[in-house]
Amino acid sequence: ATQLVWFRNDLRITDNSALSAACRCADDKVIALFVATPEQWKNHNMAAIQAGFIRSNLLSLQHSLAALGIPLEFIQCDDFDASVVEIKRLCDRHGISDIYYNKQYQVNELRRDRQLEATLSPDIICHAFDDALLLPPNSVLTGNGDMYQIFTPFRNRFVSQIQQGIQPVRPVPKARGDKPELTAIPEFNYPILPHDDFPAGEQEAIQRLRTFCRERAADYLKHRDIPALDMTSRLSPYLAIGVLSVRQCYNRLLAEHPDFLSHPDSGAFTWFNELVWREFYHHLIVAYPQLCKHRPFIEWTQGVQWNPEEASFIAWCEGKTGYPIVDAAMRQLNQTGWMHNRLRMITASFLVKDLLIDWRRGERYFISRLIDGDLAANNGGWQWAASTGTDSAPYFRIFNPTTQGKRFDPQGHFIRQWVPELQEVAEKWIHTPHLWAEKQGIELDYPQPIVDHSQARINTLNAFEMARKGM
Ligand code: FAD
Repeated sequence: ATQLVWFRNDLRITDNSALSAACRCADDKVIALFVATPEQWKNHNMAAIQAGFIRSNLLSLQHSLAALGIPLEFIQCDDFDASVVEIKRLCDRHGISDIYYNKQYQVNELRRDRQLEATLSPDIICHAFDDALLLPPNSVLTGNGDMYQIFTPFRNRFVSQIQQGIQPVRPVPKARGDKPELTAIPEFNYPILPHDDFPAGEQEAIQRLRTFCRERAADYLKHRDIPALDMTSRLSPYLAIGVLSVRQCYNRLLAEHPDFLSHPDSGAFTWFNELVWREFYHHLIVAYPQLCKHRPFIEWTQGVQWNPEEASFIAWCEGKTGYPIVDAAMRQLNQTGWMHNRLRMITASFLVKDLLIDWRRGERYFISRLIDGDLAANNGGWQWAASTGTDSAPYFRIFNPTTQGKRFDPQGHFIRQWVPELQEVAEKWIHTPHLWAEKQGIELDYPQPIVDHSQARINTLNAFEMARKGM
């Protein structure tokens, strides 16, 4: 028999449920497949840097698969509908009996998979696996069998369930047959950007994970909120497209810090807690599919009258708001495709609460720039910051961007790295450089703040209040 493994968001050969299942019978021929859908990517606003990262990792995967005796087929077609037609053709051509893939939980992806199953049935059997999370969606529920809407009780339940064990990390399957020829993978019909900060390949991801768990996880609680220290794992690009599995992360963390689950105040537990946020947001989009359709979780926030003005949105995108920590962060995103978590919170809050701009515009912009773009995590983060989501920041709690800067970049190291115009500003004034310039009687080549925070705060509170009262 000939088995087909369809690689999607799981570009790895280690701990890959679909690949392992397809390789179970040593005598079967196994073929791998990747489908590029540039029109769909465009609709989803996928960042060019993420497309570049996918491509590099696909080339690396092709090599690893070849060493196992598995050839990689590549299809390029417009969108998900077209991909179903093309896969059916490929199955017919190769006489495929079974197709294996790991589940993706977003609405469009689930619809595509249902369409595929209907198209291939009954001749070809589809095997779909829960692989992308530590515990599958709909498996961590309240006593009433509902999805949690608050993170902490979800996390507590998650911890008790995970202690009963998770699916073990699956080894790389044994090699079969001769090494196939490596056929060239055509260019994607999609813009591509290089990803210098994040070299491709499973080995790179595994190495980064090992180093992080050994050397930095213990201090994660202390350092994670300081962007200048760069002490988080920076594994998100690899997790987002599945070059690394979250089980590999969990198991490595356990190997280095065996008791961490009993020490909730440890660095290791705090890092694990972030992995659980990732789980929470993925479970949420399955329980509440409207989250994938640009809907807020809190319905009344649909009534907020957002500021339609273009100039301040552009200033935010370009990192020219006159608020140094916001601008430094946006420039980090624009130049590297990645942004530190604390800064994602600060910049998202600034867009929504200081500029009163619809959070969905920010969500879209982030996805169009992030190398780790992930619908569930990005939507969760945006709805949290915008006070429109489950368990989000209450709308009346508004970050002050200057105070946030002082707290998390006290000496302005991070700001100076990304906003060279502020290089000369004295440390004490780095968060309010225009005041310094005024005192010095000089002009900075840096914008004045585009809003007054205290006034903006009042406007935002009013806008949310009006919406809440249905006015
Ligand atoms: P670490 O601190 O080392 O954490 C380890 C892993 O846990 C991360 O790689 C990530 O997979 C996961 N994780 C950490 N924090 C969160 C979180 N708050 N929510 C969900 N998962 C988390 N993360 C994405 O992967 N893709 C996104 O598109 C994305 N968009 C975001 C948008 C906003 C507005 C906010 C506030 C957060 C967003 N995050 C997103 C979450 C988080 O900022 C990044 O996962 C994190 O900064 C990645 O850096 P790291 O790998 O060093 O994380």
